[in-house]
Amino acid sequence: MMLDCAIIGGGPAGLTAGLYATRGGLDNVTMFEKGMPGGQITQSSEIENYPGATGHNLSGMDLMIPWPEQCQRFGLKHEMSEVTRVSQNSDKTFTISKSDGSSIMAKSVIVGTGSTPKRAGFEGEDKYFGRGVSTCATCDGFFYKGKEVVVIGGGDTALEEALYLSKICSKVTLVHRRDTFRSAPSTIDRVKNTDNIELVLNAVPKEVTGDPMGVTGLDVILSDGTIRHIDAPGVFTFVGNDVNNQVLLQEDGSFLCDMTPSGQVKVDINMRTSVAGLYATGDMREDAPKQVVCAAGDGAVAALQAITYVDELSHH
Ligand SMILES: Cc1cc2nc3c(=O)[nH]c(=O)nc-3n(C[C@H](O)[C@H](O)[C@H](O)COP(=O)(O)OP(=O)(O)OC[C@H]3O[C@@H](n4cnc5c(N)ncnc54)[C@H](O)[C@@H]3O)c2cc1C
Repeated sequence: MMLDCAIIGGGPAGLTAGLYATRGGLDNVTMFEKGMPGGQITQSSEIENYPGATGHNLSGMDLMIPWPEQCQRFGLKHEMSEVTRVSQNSDKTFTISKSDGSSIMAKSVIVGTGSTPKRAGFEGEDKYFGRGVSTCATCDGFFYKGKEVVVIGGGDTALEEALYLSKICSKVTLVHRRDTFRSAPSTIDRVKNTDNIELVLNAVPKEVTGDPMGVTGLDVILSDGTIRHIDAPGVFTFVGNDVNNQVLLQEDGSFLCDMTPSGQVKVDINMRTSVAGLYATGDMREDAPKQVVCAAGDGAVAALQAITYVDELSHH
């Protein structure tokens, strides 16, 4: 059995790839998803920036529920299984290996396995994740318009997101465990010169406090061992991001296609990787804006490319 296209991951990128690939004429398309389709956004209690989805208090789950059904109408097959590896055969086809030991071949592959924000590791972080604890200022900053927020971290992303939030929120308290930052000097200067950013340095987040409505603040341990409570309904953590690129890792430790030093998949504007017939989409690809609408766009672009690629193969 040979698939026209295998889609790895059933988040916004994979589901949109599935919609476009099947509706665009590929016959044999299977999407492999290890859990429920929908992706990371299903962990979010509210989404306001998916165009057209204007429902009041629309959760990420609400947004994603119709997506798989829409794809199935056009013939997308969905298999609930975890892919362990995508490898390429000498005839340029691909083998998709699964955690149950079985495998399947495909003419083209669209990977959309997403990314996982690292946790900072304080008490209550998991409990309030998506309900006041956030890893995305573009997604959630607006919910705190005119309010105070805390930002945790000291790298480029933390500082840039602190600057972004300082334009929306009344005050940003930046908590960092050292007294120096790992970022461009110009970014550090801008942070230091922004009136509504307060730096709390040499401080370790201890516990996020909350009530049934959500987050109320953060307790941090200062360098002298005392605890300071910061009142804020929003806590943003930027302590790194793991790209879910394991499926591209080969037996010899190399990756199937070219990657950036931080482990994102290199793609061109058409989501083509360095290997013909292999596409990377959504949060896992280089320079991803990490937004649902962008992941969906990538999925559509990759599927259109895969259709052309498979079509050309059959004419050779
Ligand atoms: C709490 C939270 C709030 C957010 N808020 C917003 C927002 O307001 N607006 C916005 O636009 N974006 C928001 N985002 C970001 C958005 O969710 C992501 O940008 C988007 O989901 C990325 O889509 P994706 O398809 O690339 O990956 P993902 O959504 O991460 O989906 C990847 C899928 O692949 C599956 N998978 C991974 N590995 C394997 C494997 N080996 N085999 C099989 N399946 C696998 C996973 O189970 C997952 O379902 C938020 C994210 C979070 C966590």
